[in-house]
Amino acid sequence: MQIITTPVALDQALAAEREAQKTIGLVPTMGALHAGHASLVSRSVSENDVTVVSVFVNPTQFNDKRDLDSYPRNLEADCALLESLGADIVFAPTVEAAYPEPDTRQFSYPPIDTVMEGGKRPGHFNGVCQIVSKLFLWTRPDRAYFGEKDFQQIAVIRNMVESEHIDVDIVACPIKRADDGLALSSRNALLTPEQRKIAPKIHAALADSVAFAASHSVKETHDETVARINAVDGLEVEYYEIVDARTLLPVEEWSESPWIVGCITVYCGKVRLIDNICYKK
Ligand code: AMP
Repeated sequence: MQIITTPVALDQALAAEREAQKTIGLVPTMGALHAGHASLVSRSVSENDVTVVSVFVNPTQFNDKRDLDSYPRNLEADCALLESLGADIVFAPTVEAAYPEPDTRQFSYPPIDTVMEGGKRPGHFNGVCQIVSKLFLWTRPDRAYFGEKDFQQIAVIRNMVESEHIDVDIVACPIKRADDGLALSSRNALLTPEQRKIAPKIHAALADSVAFAASHSVKETHDETVARINAVDGLEVEYYEIVDARTLLPVEEWSESPWIVGCITVYCGKVRLIDNICYKK
């Protein structure tokens, strides 16, 4: 496994693979890797000749400096895990290598990038598109792997790929959870032991709400889910939206769309956790 830190070196490393018509899979990450990331990497390794995993905490997608500063980083452990998974290249640029000059490009796909996370984290998806478009340009992957934990992010990236005419297959991978149901996340490392104990109640409430939804309206299901999570001391729902998974716009009736997903953000102390659940597909 090679560890590469500049776009030029990445291009050189991939030149021979491209020449030999090898397929390239890309897994963009911000590091502090866990079994959720590992599932994306393993899938790429099984579906491509060459797997590139980027590890880069992208400053342009953070609208909160404290969140950026506290984001967990551990490149050494990440590389050990990636080697064991069979990744071929770890691309871990510095901020200067990724952004030799400020990126002034604006990516805008309303309402996909303005609802939910787009509304709560202004500029977040623009930053995501800036770095992912650069990674696509430098890697020129056949396939790129993203997790459904960041449900809205996949929708934004699909829009970007279409509007920028980028020739890549976007592969959406299911959410990996801890045994107690908590969606795996690098931010879980920031939870205190007490917070870690209550955080699984988010998924528990979402999972139970699917059965509840069978005999209740969208609004009742929404309100019951929010009330149940907010009743837990230490958890506070920032938003819960039950949306058409294709448009990300809220639905009022279960019959309104063939594919309905509930997307949630919950503060567990200062740690912001996101998750989602499928009601209908
Ligand atoms: P991040 O390092 O948080 O930017 O995540 C990198 C990629 O891993 C994104 O496509 C995430 O959606 C995906 N990912 C993060 N957590 C999980 C999880 N628990 N299950 C599946 N994919 C995940």
